[in-house]
Amino acid sequence: MALIELRNVSKSYDSGGLPVEALKTVDLLVEEGEMLAIMGPSGSGKSTMLTILGAMNPPSSGAVLTDTIDVYALSGEKRADFRHEYLGFIFQQQHLVPYLTALENVMLPMAISRRSQHEQAAMAQAALERVGLGNKVDRLPSQLSGGEQERVAIARAIINEPPIILADEPTGCLDTETGIEVMGLLRTLNREGLTILVVTHNPDNTRFVDRTVSLRDGRIDADRRHPIVLSAMAGIGDGSLPSPRSLALTAPSVSVCATGI
Ligand code: ADP
Ligand code: MG
Repeated sequence: MALIELRNVSKSYDSGGLPVEALKTVDLLVEEGEMLAIMGPSGSGKSTMLTILGAMNPPSSGAVLTDTIDVYALSGEKRADFRHEYLGFIFQQQHLVPYLTALENVMLPMAISRRSQHEQAAMAQAALERVGLGNKVDRLPSQLSGGEQERVAIARAIINEPPIILADEPTGCLDTETGIEVMGLLRTLNREGLTILVVTHNPDNTRFVDRTVSLRDGRIDADRRHPIVLSAMAGIGDGSLPSPRSLALTAPSVSVCATGI
């Protein structure tokens, strides 16, 4: 049984009276523990797919089943609970609150929880440690590098321990080496059990994933499983990935910021 299923999903937007078909009868199955890259040119429907998976953008037709829950059959309130329980979000612009510390930013998604402040702070501290920022919890975003800010956003996404992470261009505004570190961190979280879907423009990022789904004009035009992971699943070789350092040495050190795409 797949953890996530898109069943015959279509989405059209009304753009000034003209319908735009952003997704066209898309079917997708994602197994628990998979890490996927979603690729495709600008306008191909990647963000639409992610927000539909994220329970925040109802499809025009079709269904989304997550852990067998028919997400868009839920009432608005139940769907908010579903999002809270199942999903962590990471966006290209991290939307950190500038006057809150790293710790306070990570605590934000727990604002509606019934846990004590003390317990919330301890959980945020643990999440920041998990992303390697245990010693910078009191810094403001302006006192952190771009990569560190992205790590805060990742800590915030995992604070409620959701089984699924949805990331839209998490490396889009980072330099190559920092982007590789962030992808490596996501891969580590995936190995620890999280199911992760990453929208990315950068083909280098597919080295960190099990599978790449390519969109074109609102349709899936390729769905490839990566052999390195197949061999790991089959117990052939050690399935190890190149280290972030070795990738950084071979990657061009240019900015890959894709703002606005
Ligand atoms: P991608 O993330 O691959 O760039 P999107 O999912 O953002 O693609 O967009 C797919 C298509 O849907 C594009 O043609 C885009 O202009 C259109 N679109 C996206 N969101 C809206 C919206 N809220 N209203 C109207 N059109 C939209
Ligand atoms: Mg997009």
